[in-house]
Amino acid sequence: MASVQHNSQSADHGARHDSRHGTDRHPAGSAPGRAGHTGRTGAAARRDLAVRAAVAQGLISEAEPVLALLDVAGIRSSAAALRAAFDEVVAPGTAVLHAFAVKATALVPVLRLLAAEGIGAEVASPGELALARAAGIPADRTVLDSPAKTTAELREAIALGIAVNADNPQELARIDALVGSGGTTSPFGLRVNPQTGAGSIGALSTATATSKFGVALRDEGARAWVVQAYLDRPWLTRLHTHSGSQGLPLELMAEGVRALHGLAEEINAAAGRRQIDTLDIGGGLPVNFASDEETPTYAAYARLLKDTVPGLLDGGYGLVTEFGRSLLAKHGLVLARVEYAKSAGGRPIAVTHAGSQIATRTVYNPVSWPLRIAAYDAGGRPKSGPDVAQDIAGPACFAGDLLAENRALPLLEQGDLVAALDTGAYYFTNHYAYNSLVRPGIQGFTVRPRAGTDGADGVGGADGAGGIDGTDGVGDTDEVRFTTVRAPQTVEEIVTESGGAYADALLDD
Ligand SMILES: *Cc1c(COP(=O)(O)O)cnc(C)c1O
Repeated sequence: MASVQHNSQSADHGARHDSRHGTDRHPAGSAPGRAGHTGRTGAAARRDLAVRAAVAQGLISEAEPVLALLDVAGIRSSAAALRAAFDEVVAPGTAVLHAFAVKATALVPVLRLLAAEGIGAEVASPGELALARAAGIPADRTVLDSPAKTTAELREAIALGIAVNADNPQELARIDALVGSGGTTSPFGLRVNPQTGAGSIGALSTATATSKFGVALRDEGARAWVVQAYLDRPWLTRLHTHSGSQGLPLELMAEGVRALHGLAEEINAAAGRRQIDTLDIGGGLPVNFASDEETPTYAAYARLLKDTVPGLLDGGYGLVTEFGRSLLAKHGLVLARVEYAKSAGGRPIAVTHAGSQIATRTVYNPVSWPLRIAAYDAGGRPKSGPDVAQDIAGPACFAGDLLAENRALPLLEQGDLVAALDTGAYYFTNHYAYNSLVRPGIQGFTVRPRAGTDGADGVGGADGAGGIDGTDGVGDTDEVRFTTVRAPQTVEEIVTESGGAYADALLDD
């Protein structure tokens, strides 16, 4: 198992996890075990195999010193867990649409993989809608949110028949004008802000008193306005809320859903019919960035919803969910070469190719967004050795470009690799173009047991990478199949995107 340590806010000594789940380091010098033989989780074992194989297959190299990997089996298992969790708590026959928040991992092959697992798409921009359509997500499995929809966007959504959640009274007035012409199959809802409060990350808390999202339900006169808005619009049949992302306690999420359900009941009572037939409860399940354990689970949240808002699940309402991070975060990693190992002021520094362009939130707000870093040697084997506090720096030209500061890991050397874990959502797909650094390529991987072996033990079949001796059980790269999800951006593309076709534009006036 790779040396992995969670970032703590302090100088980060001793933020070690116990190894109950096999996610912790091995004693120095011990060989990494095989999947299922040392208590490591399947995901951690697959990750180590994938890193080793990525090196052996030449996917990470001097020419391509940073690479993102997606664990296909992990994504499938999270999608299945989401479906199972709600199947468990809803009344039989309840219509449930799980719409993946595309912004979390905006990749067409990922959307299509999720679609194969029964998951739709929540989109919030023309680009995201285009991605969902390119992935073949049907209109009736697509939901459009966003606080700034133009009339043209609304018109397109309505022409396609996708569900639209209006954010505010002005948007509702635009929809009035468009729906006036009739003939759409789009279901419409209104987003409300239950103003139930913030989680631990302010920037991601959407249910604060002054959040920019939705109709602020506790503001004076707002609730009566919302009820009347529904009574005036018989075609308004959904109600939407999303209380925030990462950092929200489950109880606060459930509290927002309880407020949503209470409002729907009030509107339906006022209408004298079940005008609202579907509740869209948003996403926001937090992700554990501290270990390989996947907690909290969808099952725990679904059970909490059942306890907190039993009427939500009794069959009276269809359900839409919009989870993003919790479906993908733990199934992606960024692998980067250590270009140089140096030291300053007594602090060792590994200068790598992954920094702010990939981990923007972590770099600018390390306290809210700590990432686990795993250390591998040049052959992609988990690195061992005594812990040394060191900085893991990125390639960008500003001092704060650090993936991790003062992190205890085996001392990294030139040519080693670092992996930024749990970066499958909101990291390598949310590229930051500082320093014109290219967007890295993304490979999906699948680990297959080899016929005639127990599925993990190497037979020395490493194909060609220097330094792989095939003796520690992960040398058999035939087990890991990679498939391109996104090609790396080229510098030619950067020139084009940077006005390359208009080189003289500012000269002739
Ligand atoms: C971002 C967002 C989501 C997804 O949030 P996660 O924390 O990634 O689950 C869902 N719904 C809306 C409206 C969002 O803005």
